[in-house]
Amino acid sequence: MSFDAPPFGTMPFTAPESYLGTVRDAGEPDADSLCFAFQQTLLLVADGAAGAQLPAHEHLARLGAEPLRRLYLGTLGERACYAFEFPVDTPVPQDMAWKGLRALYAKLDDSLFALAGRALQYVDWDRTHQFCGRCGTPTRQREHERARECPECKLIAYPRIAPAVMCLVRRGREILLARSPHFLPGMYSALAGFVEPGESLEQCLAREVLEETGIRIANARYFASQPWPFPHSLMIAFVADYAGGEITPAPDEIEDAQWFALDALPKLPNRISIARRLIDGVMAEMTAAFRQE
Ligand SMILES: [Zn+2]
Repeated sequence: MSFDAPPFGTMPFTAPESYLGTVRDAGEPDADSLCFAFQQTLLLVADGAAGAQLPAHEHLARLGAEPLRRLYLGTLGERACYAFEFPVDTPVPQDMAWKGLRALYAKLDDSLFALAGRALQYVDWDRTHQFCGRCGTPTRQREHERARECPECKLIAYPRIAPAVMCLVRRGREILLARSPHFLPGMYSALAGFVEPGESLEQCLAREVLEETGIRIANARYFASQPWPFPHSLMIAFVADYAGGEITPAPDEIEDAQWFALDALPKLPNRISIARRLIDGVMAEMTAAFRQE
């Protein structure tokens, strides 16, 4: 039996291939421009026979409200893309609705779903960086990059991304899964936590697994990453081997942690999450390896 081969060859997540990002405002949207219109974290969509559709700019007029902000995102194929924020309680026509992004996974085209996550983060960042964090002066958009600058003290604020790591630990034919108190009843997942300042991904991985379960790991390998716009994370997933320790769940953080055999897994996270793809990927690899024995 050998697990030496690199476990994963391809990225399981698709990036929007024809998307071209830029901060240079292309001016007023034309009627056909693609609009990511938000009311807080909810996205405006029309439910059609072919799934959820994003409105073109000409449809936004039907909302009968003025947007609080508009950000140019770039182009997707030939179409200019804009993000808008509308006031809370903006009513919608009967054939449109405000929907949470999670509910739109697999209903929106993959490229549009990824771009919607980006748009949501830009809108949230723009809303919360209108004033300088150091001197309180109103900020302005920088011309050549996605950043806001203070005209007084020159402090520059970039969109914030918070990296987090995820780890699936393997031991023989078992994997280590845990549940936190806020999970759905019966559901278990891989371990995860935010990277701290001054910490490498590898150090974070070892620390999180040890803190949360008392388990030591070795031989960590990269699996894939997933931007997670709730509100601004980047989840970086790894698989690692068990190197020692007994399961000791961290009080308050981890309700339960167990070694699960591949044929006796508990309820797992939804397919929207990288956790599920990580677990599925590792299971497929382990199953193939054991079959060859
Ligand atoms: Zn300032």
